[in-house]
Amino acid sequence: MGFLESFNRGLSGDDGYAFAGRQVACSHCGGSAFNERSAQLNTMGLTFLDLDWANRSATVLVCKDCGHLEWFL
Ligand SMILES: [Zn+2]
Repeated sequence: MGFLESFNRGLSGDDGYAFAGRQVACSHCGGSAFNERSAQLNTMGLTFLDLDWANRSATVLVCKDCGHLEWFL
């Protein structure tokens, strides 16, 4: 239960992702290999943070090397 359970299961992308025309690189280790997940922001209590505008799903890339999460709305 909890945060990780909100991710959709079974998604596994090929190495390399691009958003807004730029290759995604991990901001921690610089790696380019990610696992892709999606998360429903409206289940995560973000209204408390005045992020009602983001009350939709987000794409989350999980770095395969270090586990760092990169979020894309
Ligand atoms: Zn990384």
